[in-house]
Amino acid sequence: MFTRRSFLAASAAAGVLSKAALAEEATDVVIIGAGLSGLNAANLLKEQGFKTIVLEGAQQVGGRVRTHQTANGPIDVGASQIGRSYARVIDACLQHGLKLIPEDRDLLKFGAHYKDTWIDNATWSSHPLNKTEGEERSIPPLMMGSRLVGKYNPLQNIDDWLDPKFADYDVSLRTLLRQKGHSAQAIELAALSSPGISIDETSVLRIWQEETRGNLDRRFGAGKPDESHKDHPFGEVHNRSIVNGLTSTSNIEGGCHLLPLAMSKPLGDAVRLNKKVVHIELSSTGGAVTCADGSRYRGRFILSAIPFTVLRKVKISGPSGPSAAQAIATMPYANTARLYLTVDPFWLDDGLPPSFSTDGPLGMFWGIDNHKGTGPHRAMIVLVGQTAREITKKGVEQAVPFLLAELARLRPASAGKVRVNTYKDWGADPLQLGCGFSLAPGQVNSFARTMLEPWEVMHFAGEHTRRNDFGMESAMESGERAAIEIMNRAG
Ligand SMILES: Cc1cc2nc3c(=O)[nH]c(=O)nc-3n(C[C@H](O)[C@H](O)[C@H](O)COP(=O)(O)OP(=O)(O)OC[C@H]3O[C@@H](n4cnc5c(N)ncnc54)[C@H](O)[C@@H]3O)c2cc1C
Repeated sequence: MFTRRSFLAASAAAGVLSKAALAEEATDVVIIGAGLSGLNAANLLKEQGFKTIVLEGAQQVGGRVRTHQTANGPIDVGASQIGRSYARVIDACLQHGLKLIPEDRDLLKFGAHYKDTWIDNATWSSHPLNKTEGEERSIPPLMMGSRLVGKYNPLQNIDDWLDPKFADYDVSLRTLLRQKGHSAQAIELAALSSPGISIDETSVLRIWQEETRGNLDRRFGAGKPDESHKDHPFGEVHNRSIVNGLTSTSNIEGGCHLLPLAMSKPLGDAVRLNKKVVHIELSSTGGAVTCADGSRYRGRFILSAIPFTVLRKVKISGPSGPSAAQAIATMPYANTARLYLTVDPFWLDDGLPPSFSTDGPLGMFWGIDNHKGTGPHRAMIVLVGQTAREITKKGVEQAVPFLLAELARLRPASAGKVRVNTYKDWGADPLQLGCGFSLAPGQVNSFARTMLEPWEVMHFAGEHTRRNDFGMESAMESGERAAIEIMNRAG
């Protein structure tokens, strides 16, 4: 087992300890970031007798697991959905006494506003604007991306995306769809509706990683749900049959942020808030970390559990890095911005589909709660891809009035029937600068397989370092892997 004395001796020998060292705090592992990945690693290391300090730049723990308290109750503006196969997340909820409840969020029927025309999915196959060909004609516009992505997915196992035998698929979705002979309009609609950053900027292998993992989640259910009438690509149709005590999608009662909060409790004052890391110094035997407020922390190991969007803004000194350095510098991130609303059901007045996607700057409008009839419903305006990029440029002050005006333009019946609860643009959050990692075409082959190799004593966690899982479970997976790497290395 690695001891405190051996750490101090090794650090001193490597010259990592500066003259100011005595004023600095020393520990076994300095963990940067108190999202699920950093917190999971910290708890596992603590269990094995390691001392850790967790430096969190924000004034709260949780990162992308965040709940806003609103006049209409808690709203999860980051992660909220917990699948049946989320072993680590579910275990952590049980350990900390958090209650999992069936998700109470059904998206109402979708349509599309496309080329200034309202499209009803039921009649789209014979619509004059439908220029797609053959089997494509019956695919609703909003489903084009996910249907075509799914159609060609050859991956069987959750780690196949990293298997060199699939290396030829490290291409963009546009390239794949062209190779498969799809029509120009099918490709255009896939561009509007594809999951990922964009049809040109995301590797198909990255998209299939998520899809293959989602297929596994379904196997934990009571048979495959009937999704033949599914008119949107956002998650599962909620299967309410109970398997092992859970429906297909659960939420945490009181808000998802209760999970990172509970995970941080056993760590006590090892978790330091408002500690934005700005400089990391690395050698082969130790590392030092400086925060924006000038405080410094030294560790035999450093664990970066922050997104690469923000790590690339941190100065890293020491011997040049392995392939992680390329990943830190170039890995693209997707974004999402969401306006959370309460609405009176204006779709009962205008007769148009409650939920819709647009090819304009509004992105998507999701009507929620099919059980509420004529009462107030939850709703969300959801921007991804290019629309999210554009809204980030506007800034929060302008974004909300802009989106409300756009909704009123498209759906005049909504006038006076919309109340704002809260807004979150993850691309505008300085400690995130995006909502989730992506890999550009070619990046699975160039660095995704090797990027976990430590950079001197710095190891990597975070959902962007996933191998098998997705969402919150991938953050937990990565924290566990990185903690084990450090334990093994410490001997
Ligand atoms: C809108 C949205 C919806 C989602 N929905 C779901 C869902 O329903 N189900 C699901 O499973 N997953 C969902 N996810 C994904 C899930 O939230 C993430 O995969 C997971 O929370 C990532 O955890 P992490 O530890 O990797 O990173 P993060 O949560 O990003 O943690 C990183 C931490 O590092 C801190 N930090 C950043 N820079 C610095 C710095 N320089 N110094 C110190 N600290 C720093 C940040 O403040 C943050 O606390 C969603 C994500 C988003 C954005």
